[in-house]
Amino acid sequence: MSDKIADLGARRARKRDAKPRKCPICGKPAVEATRPFCSERCRKIDLDRWRTETYRVPVVEADDDDAPAPTDQKDEP
Ligand SMILES: [Zn+2]
Repeated sequence: MSDKIADLGARRARKRDAKPRKCPICGKPAVEATRPFCSERCRKIDLDRWRTETYRVPVVEADDDDAPAPTDQKDEP
């Protein structure tokens, strides 16, 4: 019985020793305060990057001026 409990504790301890997350921006080990980033700076970089991608609107040039205007074609015999 006690062996089982000890094993559980050891397993938990092992889990806590797991590799710290790496900062997705620069690859350095993340810090608890700014997880999953290594620093406030990297956190901001990621935020800015995310925001830029979110607000980026695909530019579609309107070339419809030369396109023939839709006519009232009727397929009726
Ligand atoms: Zn970083």
